[in-house]
Amino acid sequence: MSPSFTPPATGREWHLVARPHGRPRPDDFALREVPVPAVGPGQVLIRNHFFSVDPYMRGRMGDTNSYVYFPPMALGEAMGGAAVGEVIACADPALAVGDLVLHFGGWREYAVLPATEATRVDTPGIPLSAHLGVLGMTGLSAYAGLFEVADFRPGDAVFVSGAAGAVGSQVGQMARLAGASRVIGSAGTPEKVKYLVEELGFDAAFNYKDGPVLEQLRAAAPHGIDVYFDTVGGDHLEAAIDVLHEHGRVTLCGAIAQYNDVEPPPGPRNLPVAIGKRLHLHGMLVLDHEKLRPRFTTEVAGWIAAGELTWRETVVDGIEHGVDAFLGLFRGDNTGKMIVALRP
Ligand code: NAP
Repeated sequence: MSPSFTPPATGREWHLVARPHGRPRPDDFALREVPVPAVGPGQVLIRNHFFSVDPYMRGRMGDTNSYVYFPPMALGEAMGGAAVGEVIACADPALAVGDLVLHFGGWREYAVLPATEATRVDTPGIPLSAHLGVLGMTGLSAYAGLFEVADFRPGDAVFVSGAAGAVGSQVGQMARLAGASRVIGSAGTPEKVKYLVEELGFDAAFNYKDGPVLEQLRAAAPHGIDVYFDTVGGDHLEAAIDVLHEHGRVTLCGAIAQYNDVEPPPGPRNLPVAIGKRLHLHGMLVLDHEKLRPRFTTEVAGWIAAGELTWRETVVDGIEHGVDAFLGLFRGDNTGKMIVALRP
């Protein structure tokens, strides 16, 4: 966008208007047209190109949900979250019109923010949207969850659930690149299973809808696993506990199978097995691992440049489809990172 671009007086943004009970519904949200505020000293006006929809946002929609690890989103305000866009007006010397920036202004066409809340992104040869996925929060979650939280060691056999998703697809590839003895993934469609084995180099993968996870995991990992990277919870976590070796390590990253539960589900029925096996079960939050970001960015950009690590995005076109993109995460609509693209 050229510096002479004149922003419109109004822009559209998604608001949460009701706290979902169970699976969110389209009428829990409203797309509203609001005035674009004037840019004050120290602020920038950003025109978003892409925004991210993420499973963790479900936790922020409840007011008492136990999965909330950020403050709940306010009703009647723009949905927060990561977005990338272009500075189109600037009243701060740290940024300039034309800069491409990452920020957390969320599901909206335009955002006016303090310049300190926008980070310039400049990775030649890598598309802007990658800063929401492979080089963004989900990529860092995979990297930190595997190398720091699970304390990955070469030779480990690694199982990751949600393996065709944004985090899972990176976990499996990173484990392979770092010398895993076997990488196993689970996903929810035959196409995703094929993608894992044929394109991402997983040693084995299965469709968790085809039969009990425990049976399928045992068949895919006949010699057991050392690391389980959990994005799903429920039956996947229970199966992994049974198949892990003694002193096995689990990264508890997500539990998407449970995010819409109205009643707390029963915990893994075999949790006492973790005692005898001396398992390490570690909850993780990516926010705790910011210090890894420079190493993560350098290493992942290097793998991408060498053609050793790939990623996919499922791009939903148009802000008006933002809620449907979010709801699609719970239907398994996405392969790789789910992203909403905004038309200029
Ligand atoms: P994602 O995997 O790209 O998208 C969600 C996927 O979950 C869907 O595509 C779907 O794939 C699968 N899914 C949906 N409902 C399911 C169910 N009932 N059972 C099994 N799988 C189901 O999302 P992501 O951004 O990479 O996040 C993955 C997980 O990591 C989420 O649980 C998220 O909350 C968590 N996370 C945590 C952190 C942290 O800091 N702790 C950071 C990032 C992400 P299928 O077709 O395979 O079912």
